[in-house]
Amino acid sequence: MPRAYTCSLQASDPIQFPDLCVICGKPQPGTTHRYAVKQSLSLSRFGGWQRIKVPCCRGCGWRLDLGRVLRGARFLLITAAVTLPATWLLYHYTPLRDATLGGTVFGIFCVVLIVNGFWEMFHPPEFVIDVTGSTVSFEFRDRDRAEAFAAANGMSFAALPTHGE
Ligand SMILES: [Zn+2]
Repeated sequence: MPRAYTCSLQASDPIQFPDLCVICGKPQPGTTHRYAVKQSLSLSRFGGWQRIKVPCCRGCGWRLDLGRVLRGARFLLITAAVTLPATWLLYHYTPLRDATLGGTVFGIFCVVLIVNGFWEMFHPPEFVIDVTGSTVSFEFRDRDRAEAFAAANGMSFAALPTHGE
């Protein structure tokens, strides 16, 4: 079962990337990709979006962006595909109206959100940068790349406990 390997740094720490493509692991990819991350509010000294340069082949950079767009689009599509018919069915076949109907649909939306979150957890993308508070997390699906990244940043790499393996 694929799980992401996460390396976390403080936002103020300099980030060192090993000269490997973060997606396919090709040495010296020669190009970098600007990975846009949304800063959390506690990092207001940066504010808004920040771009982190990651070593990445040109083709893999496209895949990285496309993958992020597709994941967002898939979530919107699933949400629409579930909540719209559910709203229609509830409206036509139950006496739910107004706030009660809204609350029920919101409940369904929350379930979609949770299921999507679980799916993402077990199908992590090749590479993700996540900013939480003042911590920047780099998630790699490939353990070797996570270890190379950790080594380049002088971290000792500890594998996350895996469940059900
Ligand atoms: Zn690559």
